[in-house]
Amino acid sequence: MIALPEVRGKLLRNEPLAPYTWFRVGGAADALFIPADAEDLADFLKALDPAVPVTVLGVGSNVIVRDGGVEGVVIRLAGRPWAHITTDGDTVTAGAGALDSMVAKASAKAGIAGLEFYAGIPGTIGGALTMNAGCYGSETKDVLVSAWGLTRAGERVDYDLADFGYTYRHSQAPADIIWIEATYRGAADEPEAVAARISEITSRRETTQPIREKTGGSTFKNPEGYSSWKLVDEAGWRGKLHAETGEGAKFSELHSNFMINPGEATAADIEGLGEAVRADVLAKTGVQLEWEIKRIGRAG
Ligand SMILES: Cc1cc2nc3c(=O)[nH]c(=O)nc-3n(C[C@H](O)[C@H](O)[C@H](O)COP(=O)(O)OP(=O)(O)OC[C@H]3O[C@@H](n4cnc5c(N)ncnc54)[C@H](O)[C@@H]3O)c2cc1C
Repeated sequence: MIALPEVRGKLLRNEPLAPYTWFRVGGAADALFIPADAEDLADFLKALDPAVPVTVLGVGSNVIVRDGGVEGVVIRLAGRPWAHITTDGDTVTAGAGALDSMVAKASAKAGIAGLEFYAGIPGTIGGALTMNAGCYGSETKDVLVSAWGLTRAGERVDYDLADFGYTYRHSQAPADIIWIEATYRGAADEPEAVAARISEITSRRETTQPIREKTGGSTFKNPEGYSSWKLVDEAGWRGKLHAETGEGAKFSELHSNFMINPGEATAADIEGLGEAVRADVLAKTGVQLEWEIKRIGRAG
């Protein structure tokens, strides 16, 4: 059993992670830590044996937790101290645990344009910083000014936008940084106009994405010059029932780049389906699909 430092937040051993993810699959974390605040997290990281692996989870809207669970400590920045959002002029500052959609709403209320696209992404600011999350032509890198986080050793690091080296759904920042807070800059606009654009985005999403399913969003990144949904569709995988594939997972009928857990799928079913589709698309088209969804943990 790993030795765990004293904390002020919640520390749970052998905690099942499926309820913390959109796919609702996967095994348990050796330990799950929900820190009380940034100081609690820094103290914990400083005291934790450096050999113990640490993994961060947002709201799990872009991950498959494997069936064998996650080794070491999983950190989740959930609750009030992590979800603050403040605005000042055309600047928005948000905690890593704030939902992107709440940041979009707060920006609208303050008459700040530019962050409307966050209304279409069901993750947290921490996840958005890691994934360079974006939709409908805008990405995190278009509005981010700076962010700060903690290293695995519990030391504070400050990053300006350029330090992230963002490309499509990818950050070059070291993967072990735990983001705590981000600052964005938009442009002044009428609150009603910003709110109207947010409404457009949310209704568009309702009709084009399976947002009430157990899913992980876009499974594959779009390869240069191609749309992943088209490649998956043309290879014949849209909506293919798990009975046909022999797996308890399928690609959505509504959006053929979204995988779905229709009920009792395991993480191995979902990841296995993704790998089967990658191999099939490669064989049929010569295009190598790359995972956008992060897969974490041990095989079952
Ligand atoms: C229905 C649906 C629609 C979606 N639509 C879009 C879309 O239009 N555009 C888009 O870009 N994405 C989309 N996604 C994917 C997903 O919402 C984004 O990638 C989001 O940014 C992930 O945030 P999260 O909090 O869920 O992160 P998680 O899925 O929990 O984690 C994703 C990654 O971020 C890391 N991470 C999370 N928090 C932190 C932190 N504080 N510090 C360091 N690392 C951290 C994790 O370690 C992991 O590597 C969609 C997903 C779903 C389910």
